[in-house]
Amino acid sequence: MSRDLESVCIHGSETPAYRDDVRAISFPIYQTASFSHDLVGYNQFNYTRQDNPTRLHLEETVAALEHGVDAVAFTSGMAAISAVFELFQSGDHIVSCDDLYGGVTRHLNSINRKNGLEVTFVDATVPENVEKAIQPNTRALYVETPSNPMMHIIDLIALASIAKAHGLLLIVDNTFMSPVFQQPLDLGADIVVHSGSKFLSGHNDTISGFAIAKDREIADKIRLIAKTTGGTLAPFDSWLVMRGLKTLCVRMERQQANAIAIADALQHMPHVTEVLYPGLPGHPGHEVQKRQATGFGSMISFRVDSKARAYHVLQHVSLIIFAESLGGTESLITYPLTQTHPDVPESMRQQLGIDETLLRLSVGLESVRDLLEDLGKVLEEEI
Ligand SMILES: *Cc1c(COP(=O)(O)O)cnc(C)c1O
Repeated sequence: MSRDLESVCIHGSETPAYRDDVRAISFPIYQTASFSHDLVGYNQFNYTRQDNPTRLHLEETVAALEHGVDAVAFTSGMAAISAVFELFQSGDHIVSCDDLYGGVTRHLNSINRKNGLEVTFVDATVPENVEKAIQPNTRALYVETPSNPMMHIIDLIALASIAKAHGLLLIVDNTFMSPVFQQPLDLGADIVVHSGSKFLSGHNDTISGFAIAKDREIADKIRLIAKTTGGTLAPFDSWLVMRGLKTLCVRMERQQANAIAIADALQHMPHVTEVLYPGLPGHPGHEVQKRQATGFGSMISFRVDSKARAYHVLQHVSLIIFAESLGGTESLITYPLTQTHPDVPESMRQQLGIDETLLRLSVGLESVRDLLEDLGKVLEEEI
């Protein structure tokens, strides 16, 4: 029987490809560019761009958490996603959900298009929309669920069956859920990507990313791309993510508990006109989320009644920090319009509802009473 996630987060893979000689409890940081060889043609490690024991230990841990055959650690989530797009050829087509991390929309619209890779954005909360957008040259479906920042829930089982019927790869960004709440490879996805800068590392102190594959052939292609394009994670950063991962399960649970209390309270606070959180029974994706995930996470988007109120909230919260990013111990509040999604075309933003009244809150590990007091104050104040 394989070990539970709590144990994997702390101890890593049960069958590590490498153990350090002195068996340190905290895995060593192999801060080296290269490795010496004894024999011609055989050695486990060569050169750190390609392989490094510290990174390998982290990769094996993340692969085990996501139930993949292999994971590659990159210098950022965008580096991981960009490497996955290198699996495709000029002339290929991808169907993507329309609500996405802004950097991915930018990549699909700029670098991918420059490379001859076409994209069609659809509202993927309706699986038929995805199926209708498939063309003879479509090679993959790319989705994020819950999506950033509108918290759309996409039915991964339905998309996996569409992908299978049409011979497409299903690629899922699992950043918001982490493997603690959702394991897309078990639901039929082929590749999972992560911004490791968020929940996986969890302390707002490092940038990293992962691509995890379900089968060996794709995993080997991603490894070759990583080795060739060189965006692999440095040993020290690998160690930081590993250290963060040890507490992933307890962080996810506690941040979620805080988020449930806050989402609930926000609905009754003055000037709040809409709360987008999949844990609320009225959220349109609530039932799908319960079917495919074991939690709702700790990301909440909400809308206030004016731009002035949105600015007031951002500029006057005292414990919550007005900053980009998410998933860490510190609660952060973000303005998607100017911070994370400015490069999403205006028409697409309008259609999605990413406007001047939308705020995104990443709920951290502070006292929930203090967080509620902070939000209550900025929402009640006269402006
Ligand atoms: C942050 C984020 C990314 C990009 O990751 P970086 O580590 O910032 O490069 C991709 N997808 C989602 C959902 C994110 O939140």
